[in-house]
Amino acid sequence: MERLQKILAQAGVASRRKSEELIQAGKVEVNGVTVTELGTKADPDEDIITVNGKPIKSENKVYLMMNKPRGVITSASDPEGRKIVSDYLKGVKERVYPVGRLDYDTEGLLLLTNDGEFAHLLTHPKHHVPKTYVATVKGVPHGTELDKLKKGIMLEDGMTAPAEVEYKDVDPEGKEAVIQITIHEGRNRQVRRMFEAISHPVTKLKRISFGDLLIGNLKRGLTRPLTKDEVNKLI
Ligand code: URA
Repeated sequence: MERLQKILAQAGVASRRKSEELIQAGKVEVNGVTVTELGTKADPDEDIITVNGKPIKSENKVYLMMNKPRGVITSASDPEGRKIVSDYLKGVKERVYPVGRLDYDTEGLLLLTNDGEFAHLLTHPKHHVPKTYVATVKGVPHGTELDKLKKGIMLEDGMTAPAEVEYKDVDPEGKEAVIQITIHEGRNRQVRRMFEAISHPVTKLKRISFGDLLIGNLKRGLTRPLTKDEVNKLI
């Protein structure tokens, strides 16, 4: 959160001083509400700020896809000093943040952006973006067990929506299986909990797609910008 006059000045609307005058004159709105108080703070990434009814130009919007390695945490900082995703973003000057989360032990496709609206849209529970994971699980689940995941299974926080599930590989000795699963929700540790519910815990998890986006051959730990087309297809 920053002071409104600072945000306006940084967006090139006017000097800090002139921006204060605009605020006091009732020309500035934050999320549709006129603000005249000078100390008011706002979030330049999340809030819609207008001057004389026109949205201010904000920072360049950046949309990135990362192949997050295992053992990296999807938050801005970690008190335990573990690796965080921004450790992998050395060349990016904008302040981007992850769209949703991947567990510390999960690898694969992670979106990052500084576009709050885009992130909000894609993580909103109403926006059922399909996400596909490849899970290595203990033992080989029976077809009838996978059917439970397909139909929806009861977890602590309620029934899951139907998922698409298919075998990718099965260990002939029955020790493990590789299963591809597509879910349309984004609950905490959802894939792990779904497999726990059928008594086949996940030992390895990788997200390979998010909506139409595929991880492709993006190397582990690397990031690439999305094309305009890719961004438009997601929203
Ligand atoms: N489901 C999980 O269990 N973990 C993830 O990181 C993502 C989805």
